Amino acid sequence: MNTDTSDTKTVPTKTPMSCEEFSILMIAGVPQGRDDFPALVRAHMNLHLLSCKYHRSREFTGSALSTPVTAKIASAAEIIISKYRALPIENPAGIEVLEQSETEKTYPCGHSGPESFRINIFGESTDWLKKRPECLKCLITRLNTHAIRCGLCGKSILPGSGVALYDVVLNPEVAKHEDIGTFIDDRTVLGCMRFNCCISGAFFGGNWTEQGYVQR
Ligand SMILES: [Zn+2]
Ligand SMILES: [Zn+2]
Ligand SMILES: [Zn+2]
Repeated sequence: MNTDTSDTKTVPTKTPMSCEEFSILMIAGVPQGRDDFPALVRAHMNLHLLSCKYHRSREFTGSALSTPVTAKIASAAEIIISKYRALPIENPAGIEVLEQSETEKTYPCGHSGPESFRINIFGESTDWLKKRPECLKCLITRLNTHAIRCGLCGKSILPGSGVALYDVVLNPEVAKHEDIGTFIDDRTVLGCMRFNCCISGAFFGGNWTEQGYVQR
């Protein structure tokens, strides 16, 4: 059993949002709802939530709701929003935490984290995820490192998935997505095996793994 609970596997961000900044945004923004913040601000807030148990608690949400939005808080919130709205997150898998439980548990990876959660990865939402061998933070770190995108539909290809191979010269509709796809040679890009994506002209060509592409 891994007893190392040090926090070395944090999600990489350039400037993590502080507790104070998060509080100010929530107090200023809760009446309108958190969805009103610009996307990157929300992403930074979600990353803060990953590591802050206090801000995930119902007590905090309640106190933010009952704190009056003074002019001082409103202008402080504007400054924080302009700081984060254009600050990129090093999150190549495009992961956003949609919902997470308040209850925590200790995972086999050695960390404690929300017992269940839903995430959005490249625009697709998962169901509630539980019974995982790793905590939410470790899952996100692993997806950031190992998830790639389908060269045709742009959705995720996770390690352990079968992949289709597309010849971009024979399939010009795939070539449009050259910038997001993963190539195994100069004209073959990997695609997903979703029913509504995998077109004729592709064939099952192997698996995507944590070590990269493995031929069938
Ligand atoms: Zn916090
Ligand atoms: Zn973990
Ligand atoms: Zn696809």
